Amino acid sequence: MSINRGLKIAIDGPAGSGKSTVAREVARRLKLTYLDTGAMYRAITLKLLRENVDLTDTGQVEKVLERTVILTGPDERIYLDGEDVTAEIRTPQVNAAVSRVAELTAIRRKLVQQQKEIAAYAEGIVMEGRDISSRVMPDATHKFYLDAALTERARRRMREQHSKGLFLSFESVYNEIKERDRIDSERADSPLEIAPGVQVIDTTDLPVEEVVERVLQAVNRHRT
Ligand code: C5P
Repeated sequence: MSINRGLKIAIDGPAGSGKSTVAREVARRLKLTYLDTGAMYRAITLKLLRENVDLTDTGQVEKVLERTVILTGPDERIYLDGEDVTAEIRTPQVNAAVSRVAELTAIRRKLVQQQKEIAAYAEGIVMEGRDISSRVMPDATHKFYLDAALTERARRRMREQHSKGLFLSFESVYNEIKERDRIDSERADSPLEIAPGVQVIDTTDLPVEEVVERVLQAVNRHRT
């Protein structure tokens, strides 16, 4: 049996804080399942955009939800009703709409339920998002919140977009992240916040490897 069995590591933080890169690497090093919950919000956003759903029409949103299946597969693939949408959920259109979708209680209820089930059945997991410590895995064995200055987060996101051949202006990336931060922090249902008992790591001036090391050290220090 793996000594890492039973580890439930929650990593929350805003866009560009480095949480995906760090969570993925921590999961790899500890041989744990990795789940990017943001990808699930992105997949349902893609469907609502494709179907031109009015987000203020709760009935319509719920109807779409009822006939939607979001699955995460190996190699971080994400499937929307059986279709591989891994690339399509990262477009500027989805970026611009996802926080508005993630505010909706019907959406959160369904996805949080699914995420809780994944956590319950995994032998050990690293899960990243906005409400993992507070809502999805309040019983996590280890909780982290990664943060960084907004300009640095926008710079990182811009480099990431460039590597995919998307050349957006710094200003548009900066404003998009700023607006997402605002909506994610101000929403009524499980906002982005630092939950009690969470270790905060400011990644502004830290290389990824250093952040990974800090997380691994904290996990090794406090094993339950
Ligand atoms: O992590 P990522 O930036 O891909 O997440 C996209 C959006 O999904 C966030 O801006 C947030 O609105 C929403 N989200 C959320 N709760 C989570 C994960 C993501 O509300 N656990």
